[in-house]
Amino acid sequence: MQNRLTTLYKLQNIDDQLDELEELRGDLPLTVNDLTSRMTEIKDQIAEKENIKKEAFETQKINEDEIERLKKSLKKFKSQLFQVRNNKEYDALTKEIDHSEKLIEEKQNENMELELHVEKMKFDIEELTPKLEELQEELKEKETELKKIIRTNEKEEAKLREQREKIVEQIKRNDYNIYMRIRKAKGGNAVAYVSRGACSGCHNMVPPQRLIEIRTNKRLFVCESCGRILVSGQIADAVRG
Ligand SMILES: [Zn+2]
Repeated sequence: MQNRLTTLYKLQNIDDQLDELEELRGDLPLTVNDLTSRMTEIKDQIAEKENIKKEAFETQKINEDEIERLKKSLKKFKSQLFQVRNNKEYDALTKEIDHSEKLIEEKQNENMELELHVEKMKFDIEELTPKLEELQEELKEKETELKKIIRTNEKEEAKLREQREKIVEQIKRNDYNIYMRIRKAKGGNAVAYVSRGACSGCHNMVPPQRLIEIRTNKRLFVCESCGRILVSGQIADAVRG
């Protein structure tokens, strides 16, 4: 049992050191994430606007072809006007001409509107691009800073991670799950020790009877006040050397 408690405290000790290294990075990892997602957002916006632009161009092209075709038939109808033999034919032709002219006007109006839309998209893209470049610049800076910090502690961190792995192997799955659950709930500190009769995690006094039991290192106790795993001062001293 003593070994089980010692191992848990060792794990806590290593995690404390890893947490310290993590803290050195400060807000940088979050900032990098935030910048990256803001960049993705803007990139998506630009891509969407480019796409609208492209579709508008395609529609314009289709309209232009259609206008071309309508103009040709309009020309044909107009030349046929000179050859009509009766009112009925004349009415039919003028109807065709009116219809073609109306269609041409519609397509031309549509293209003008599309043109305005394209201009708006271009304007938006031009506004977004410098923002993207600004974020890119900031991201590069923060990433460099973060990499520098990581590189400084790379070896130490790798060593600690290796030690952690070995220790985790010695811990029963159930104990490890309890440890991780408390660690998550208590902001990192899952294993406390008794110091001057109090829990090192919450500083509340441990009942005397419980103190005696903890001192025997024969069972896994949790602090009645904060819920952390509570080991004896003797175990903590032994681990910390
Ligand atoms: Zn406590």
